[in-house]
Amino acid sequence: MQFKDIIGQQETKQQLTGLFHQNRLSHALLFLGKEGNGALSLARAFAQYVLCDKINGRSQAPASLGMFGEPEPVNQAPEQLDDSCGVCPSCQKSARLIHPDIHFTIPTISGISKTRPTISTDLIEPWRKFILENPYGNSFDWLQHIDAENKQGNITSEECNDIIRRMNLKSFESGYKILIVWMTELFGNEGNKLLKLIEEPPPQTLMFFVAENEGQILQTILSRTQLIKIPLLSKSDITEALVEKEKADRGAAEVIASFCDGNYRDAVLQLKHGDDQWEVMLRDWMNSILKSGPMAQVKWVEETAKLGREKQKQFLQYFLHLIEMAVTAEFNNNGIEPEEGSKQATQLDFAKKLKKICQFPQLEAMASVLSDSIYQIERNANSKMLFHALTIRLFHIISNKSVILVH
Ligand SMILES: [Zn+2]
Repeated sequence: MQFKDIIGQQETKQQLTGLFHQNRLSHALLFLGKEGNGALSLARAFAQYVLCDKINGRSQAPASLGMFGEPEPVNQAPEQLDDSCGVCPSCQKSARLIHPDIHFTIPTISGISKTRPTISTDLIEPWRKFILENPYGNSFDWLQHIDAENKQGNITSEECNDIIRRMNLKSFESGYKILIVWMTELFGNEGNKLLKLIEEPPPQTLMFFVAENEGQILQTILSRTQLIKIPLLSKSDITEALVEKEKADRGAAEVIASFCDGNYRDAVLQLKHGDDQWEVMLRDWMNSILKSGPMAQVKWVEETAKLGREKQKQFLQYFLHLIEMAVTAEFNNNGIEPEEGSKQATQLDFAKKLKKICQFPQLEAMASVLSDSIYQIERNANSKMLFHALTIRLFHIISNKSVILVH
């Protein structure tokens, strides 16, 4: 993956290449950025950059032979390019995630190996396929991809041992060894085993820790890494990416970009599912809460509980977006008005209605219980109970103007 394949994030790209060329690169970096902003892709592209033959001056074939036919030594200075070349053998391997000097640590689930706790290399094949197809996917998507069902992703103690083992191997071809850790938050206390490795790594070792939530990172790692803070994607970057990569209609892309919270994964989901059943489902739900009562609510919950976890989560995210639209009040998406009759216009219309029946603290409370529920779905809550409880909470939030009940 080259930098040019990554949406936006120009400043971060320049920061990274600058650090490399000015020799100010720490051997352990923390790529910290919210879901859907491309943090993992940046780490991958930077690894490819560091190893690219053209960047570190290994690729030039001898231009001429010396007096006695021996190749002239080539000591070409490394080039200060702003992206890897994408074509040298090293780049080609990096792009396919098969470079022997790029190592990955990823969330794994138990039971992959029969004889010992799972380590990342056990899942490297499905991982390659997943991340090549979903560069903006999150850990939830990954666990779905490996059919983890109700299992939680984690990084095992065995994995920490394996990291130490792999980082102490000799570099295979590039001189460097690079470890990319995805979901650094998953290191439990066993991550402290890495202390010595992070403090005194073998020469030419780079460790890129990718994380979304600073508060959940082990102190050992947090305090010993150079922070690369990755901002949310801008609306215009998301719009352009939706138009170019997803072939979205520009109008629709602009509206989605204006309320996807800088999260490209969400934006794509919105684009794909915006016209799904969500609209009808939400209307039925609200009607059952506001008008038709318990029987209709039970029926709705039963049906919703049958959807898969991912769909349930997408539905709640959809609702959450509409609430965000209602909260942002002016409905003035930089003056962008959705086309009449389009799905965006319908969403906007719903948001306006929501704004009429709910005050700001109520909307805030609704957003909060929805976020909680998404979190619980990701952790395999019983969906019937969850949607039932959620229905009751929403009823209270909407009908009682007092919001104290929420917490
Ligand atoms: Zn290259």
